[in-house]
This record gives sequence, structure tokens and C-alpha cells, in this order.
Amino acid sequence: MKMNLFRHKNPRFGVRVSGLVKSRTIPGLLHRIVYLRTKGTRRWLCSCHDFLFRQFSKRRNCDHIREARQRFGRFGTKVPLT
Ligand SMILES: [Zn+2]
Repeated sequence: MKMNLFRHKNPRFGVRVSGLVKSRTIPGLLHRIVYLRTKGTRRWLCSCHDFLFRQFSKRRNCDHIREARQRFGRFGTKVPLT
């Protein structure tokens, strides 16, 4: 899966990692993936249909997030700094 992620330098809260991934089913469509930390939450979010309409409310991850976590770690620490 082609995925370009960038890590933002040391924001205490907010989007720490963001990037784009190509849809496998719809040519030309890109999904935005972010790793977000706020006061009460740390979690990955994705703009794909599966995540927004199925996985998010069950506190589960889509394929894009699963792969990002495998490649870059639960907290995205292996993503290169911008
Ligand atoms: Zn997704």
C-alpha cells in the first residue's frame, strides 16, 4: 500500500502524524490518515468510508490504519520527521 506519512515536530497536542494513502478501489482517490493526540485521546483517524461509517464508532481501525501502525508503530514514532 503506497503511503506517505510525515511526523510533525513535538506538538504536545494535535495532529502528530499525517499523510495520504491511495484508495485501492477508486482510482485517483486519496485517504487522509492522521495520528491525533488531544487531552483525553490518542488515536489514529482515517478519512476512508470504511473507517468513518463502520470502524470508528466501534473503536476499531481500517486497513489503512492497521498498516500504518504495523509499519510506523502504535504512536507513529517511526514516521520520519518533516
Ligand atoms: Zn482507512
